[in-house]
Amino acid sequence: MSLIVQKFGGSSVADNERIFNVANIITRAYNQGNDIVVVVSAQGDTTDELIEKAVSINPNASRREMDMLLSAGEQMSVALLAMAIEKLGYPVVSLLGWQAGFETTSTYSAARIKRIRTDRIKKELDKKNIVIVAGFQGINRFDDITTLGRGGSDTSAVAIAAAMKADLCQIYTDVEGVYTADPRKVPNAVKLEVISYDEMLELATLGAQVLNNRSVEMAKKYDIELEVLSSLKQSSGTIVKENTNMEKMLISGVAKDCNVARISIIGVPDRPGLAFKVFSLLARKDINVDIIIQSVGREGEKDIAFTVAAGKGDEAVRVLEEHRAVIGETARVIKDEDVAKISIVGAGMESHAGVASTMFEALYDAQINIQMITTSEIKVSVLIDKDDADRAVSAIHSKFFD
Ligand code: ASP
Ligand code: MG
Repeated sequence: MSLIVQKFGGSSVADNERIFNVANIITRAYNQGNDIVVVVSAQGDTTDELIEKAVSINPNASRREMDMLLSAGEQMSVALLAMAIEKLGYPVVSLLGWQAGFETTSTYSAARIKRIRTDRIKKELDKKNIVIVAGFQGINRFDDITTLGRGGSDTSAVAIAAAMKADLCQIYTDVEGVYTADPRKVPNAVKLEVISYDEMLELATLGAQVLNNRSVEMAKKYDIELEVLSSLKQSSGTIVKENTNMEKMLISGVAKDCNVARISIIGVPDRPGLAFKVFSLLARKDINVDIIIQSVGREGEKDIAFTVAAGKGDEAVRVLEEHRAVIGETARVIKDEDVAKISIVGAGMESHAGVASTMFEALYDAQINIQMITTSEIKVSVLIDKDDADRAVSAIHSKFFD
């Protein structure tokens, strides 16, 4: 007998038919003699709709009250799913985050799981119940409801799998696994059988949108093997685990991130400490910087350009404009949001030369200009014109996979 954690995303429980479909998947695994703990998200677009509702009453609602509201989405879906399982004739119990023992930090809307007191879940499993847990939520030291941030149910599932030492953690979603590129945009994208935590983490952060990146971090930390698979189609999914050398793919995927803005500061003083001062100003405002380039100094001046998340672009410009003492009176600050970051990710890059140049060749063949480049051991990213983004992904994907 094994302990299996199954997580179902919002689209997998969007309506009654899908709830029964999920109930069938769960009871099938239960019938095979397994202990089953299920984590569910709110149905369909419920979370977005609750946010809209909140904004229509008070756009500046406190994060505490937002968490109180948003956690209701998962409260509904666990109860409905449990009712469907009852209807199929199986023993089941639904639990909210606090009932399932999720203790979190106190930061509303971005809480982190501190520990899970698993006694209640264990007691229910001992009674042979299927346990349905509300994802995305917990309780803080003030006994208030907290949420883990958007997409947090993946993290709830991995956390339970870690705390209970589960044998398997399945993440059911509306795609069949992790692909070498977005299959809706790149028709010959292929499903990966296996991908390493590090590669998945890069892809998750780059906007591949199959798994929340914190859940992958946690799976890596506690060595929880994940299986990403479709709730709508019966087929094997993608395994996310620590990779052995033999399995290292040269390239595991091409990802696109349009949520970027490029900020250029033209003509700053070419002096020691300038980069330090500029980036600590941004860090103090919690503005994460990604790609950075600095030009060679000329006549006592240089240029610095960097990228930030699109939503942080205006704030970054404001911070810099407010600190003329740092950037100099004559420097120009320019923001460009018509950019996209295209990345290739692959653990095999570490030991193979020429991967970056193959990517650049694909872009050259497609006559797409590169504005910025950055690399890590398992990733090469370029910044290009947003209008070229889809074409770039296809060109790069063909070069590596056709
Ligand atoms: N319902 C929450 C959200 O939409 C959590 C989740 O889906 O993982 O962000
Ligand atoms: Mg959701």
